Amino acid sequence: MSITLRGSNAIVTGSSRGIGRAIALELARRGANVVVCCQSRVDAALEVKEECEAMGVRALVVQSDLATEEGCRLVADRCVKELGGVDVLVNNAGIGQFAPVHQLESEAIERTLRVNLFSYIYMSKYAVGDMIERQVPGCVINISSVVSMIGASGMSVYAASKGAITGFTVCLAREVARYGIRVNAIAPGYVETELIAPFPDDYRAKVIKRIPMRRFGEPNEIARAIPFLVEDATYMTGQTLVIDGGILIE
Ligand code: NAP
Repeated sequence: MSITLRGSNAIVTGSSRGIGRAIALELARRGANVVVCCQSRVDAALEVKEECEAMGVRALVVQSDLATEEGCRLVADRCVKELGGVDVLVNNAGIGQFAPVHQLESEAIERTLRVNLFSYIYMSKYAVGDMIERQVPGCVINISSVVSMIGASGMSVYAASKGAITGFTVCLAREVARYGIRVNAIAPGYVETELIAPFPDDYRAKVIKRIPMRRFGEPNEIARAIPFLVEDATYMTGQTLVIDGGILIE
């Protein structure tokens, strides 16, 4: 048994821009109703909502700080109350800390872990709870990063949050398999979004030399894997799908 996207309800955290935006639009294109989430860019989120609605699905915007449990619960509650339940959860919201750990303030370290890791846990807690209650063979997809596998200087805290997601994905998959719920992760390589905009030109050039395909990815090249994981990968759970232009095999 698996979910059909058409008519399903999907939460995509961090979908006001970047990879999350591309995922929200891809899901809407496949007929899913979408909860578009943002922290502060409400205007951008409203544009994504309108683009989704133009494809004939229902969409709503929820603004909340996912660094808090309350912010996570709000998103799940709105999806349940306004759309009728959560069928698909894409944990995608994330922030980066591009500095060596000895130069980071504790506030920045803790916030990175709260947004990149705790929000995935709390969002899963509430979404999976709803799926189990409604006996829906739902899907959770966690956006991780290939950086936790290949290493990159100045990204240790970010990588810690992403590496933890691998363990969370594997164990949650085991916990919920009995309910027909599947949990997988995607580990993108470098993707052209605002997250990596602070990279200086010389650093970008150095990174591109490490990538066999010699370019950064585009958000929709990550988003296109989501319908595969939800609808087609019916015997796949606890796995991480690497989409990185080959950087891991270099
Ligand atoms: P992005 O363009 O910077 O977008 C980040 C999104 O997360 C925005 O929608 C932002 O909302 C939201 N967000 C940030 N902090 C939040 C908070 N406290 N509460 C709620 N929402 C919050 O990032 P991206 O590049 O698309 O990255 C998306 C995911 O892919 C992240 O998990 C990232 O680690 C992962 N990833 C990215 C790359 C890459 O190269 N870009 C590579 C590997 C993995 P606002 O718009 O309201 O600020």
